[in-house]
Amino acid sequence: MEIVHTIEHVRQAVRQARIVEKKIGFVPTMGSLHAGHGSLIETAVRETDFVVVSIFVNPTQFGPGEDLDKYPRTLETDAVFCEKFGADLIFAPSADEMYPSEQLTWVQTEQLIDKLCGTSRPGHFRGVTTICTKLFNIVQADIAYFGQKDGQQALVIRRMVRDLNMPLEIRICPIVREADGLAMSSRNRYLSADERKRALCLYKALTACREEITAGQRDGEMLIDTMKAIIAQDRGQIDYVSIVDTETLEPLKTVTDRALVALAVHIGPTRLIDNILIDLNNSPNIV
Ligand code: AMP
Repeated sequence: MEIVHTIEHVRQAVRQARIVEKKIGFVPTMGSLHAGHGSLIETAVRETDFVVVSIFVNPTQFGPGEDLDKYPRTLETDAVFCEKFGADLIFAPSADEMYPSEQLTWVQTEQLIDKLCGTSRPGHFRGVTTICTKLFNIVQADIAYFGQKDGQQALVIRRMVRDLNMPLEIRICPIVREADGLAMSSRNRYLSADERKRALCLYKALTACREEITAGQRDGEMLIDTMKAIIAQDRGQIDYVSIVDTETLEPLKTVTDRALVALAVHIGPTRLIDNILIDLNNSPNIV
């Protein structure tokens, strides 16, 4: 496995792989890798022949006062991790490599981005879609892998690729959780021992919601109230708790068919997100 820091080196390596007709897989990350990222890399290794993992803490998707400066940067251990999972190339550019001059061109998906995380993080998705477009143009993969953990991001990226006819497939992989149910996240590192215990309220709330739906509850507001009460017990500060359409992200008054149950909660200073997909045609399972 090779680690490169420049766009030119990525292009060279991918060109070499293409000459021998390798299928290119791409896993974009911000590093501080954990088993959630591992599952994406594993799937990419299974489905493609040459796997590129990017590690870049993208400044344009962080708002003022967010955790850009303290976001964990652990390239050495990340490299060992990627190698173990069978990646072929790490692309770890500097901010200057990705943004050598003022960025005047932005990619933005409308409608989907002014809801859920977009409300409290204005500009976040514009940063995400722009960096993903840049990375897609650099790596030119056949398939890019994203996690359902960032459910809104997955939807926005899918939509961007479809709307702009980008020549790659997007695969969304299931959420990987700790043994007790907490969704794995690089930001879990910020949690103190007490906060780590309280952070479980996100998963407890989602599980309770699923159970109520299984028992026949379909009223969106009642389900949201149940989740809010559980989060309050652990003193989580709610950013949002929403039950929305899986395609439009519009709030659902009644759960009829498919629904995304999504939440963002501050545990102490750390903002955590989690979600489940409900599919009443199959059993309402946690993904
Ligand atoms: P990040 O490094 O947080 O930007 O995440 C990079 C990719 O890994 C994104 O597509 C995330 O959705 C995905 N990811 C992060 N955490 C998890 C998880 N617990 N399970 C599955 N995918 C994840």
